[in-house]
Amino acid sequence: MKKLVVATRNRGKIREIQALLDGLIEEVICSADVDGFSDTVEDGGSFEENALKKAREAALFTGLPALADDSGLVVEALNGRPGVYSARFAGEGAGDEANNARLIEELEKIGPDRRQAAFVCVLAFVTPDGVERTFTGRVGGRILDLPQGSGGFGYDPLFLVEGFGRTMAELALEEKNNISHRGQAFRQFRDYLRVNIFEQT
Ligand code: IMP
Repeated sequence: MKKLVVATRNRGKIREIQALLDGLIEEVICSADVDGFSDTVEDGGSFEENALKKAREAALFTGLPALADDSGLVVEALNGRPGVYSARFAGEGAGDEANNARLIEELEKIGPDRRQAAFVCVLAFVTPDGVERTFTGRVGGRILDLPQGSGGFGYDPLFLVEGFGRTMAELALEEKNNISHRGQAFRQFRDYLRVNIFEQT
């Protein structure tokens, strides 16, 4: 495949995606650089719905194959919250610190035993001629009371990775990519592209 549009405003993400798809796609375009394209409203009830909606709108507008992701933290004792609201758990425009404080506060009410959680990432790939595929990555862990580590972003310092004894924020980026929800979803997408070659675009 020559060109792929990635539906995101986040240019940091584009660089990461370019690296993850190196050798498979010649040019990765950011939807923020497409004239006249406005952001998709992420109002879906699941990661899958949001990712598909973003990829469909980008494919329709540009006429190019499109990729979009949606990810977040799912906490069992909170019935799956923050889920699709992960970025704005403490309110619209809230930062990582406020979201993490809200998470600790909610779990304090529940007690120390029910801390099971997972990071989930859904990637959606949509082509203008109607191919639609999703790829889901998931990594399990436990939520701590106090942050540990300075790497990563979002809920990483509170997320003790299952089987690692370290939080996501204590892992080097390469280690994180090897096990993370996002890394898993991208590896599935790479495998899919290797088998399904989209020559024309
Ligand atoms: P998005 O997929 O970029 O919209 O991410 C939604 C939100 O989920 C982020 O703002 C973070 O709060 C959370 N999140 C997603 N992936 C990670 C991760 O790898 N580490 C920590 N938090 C994450």
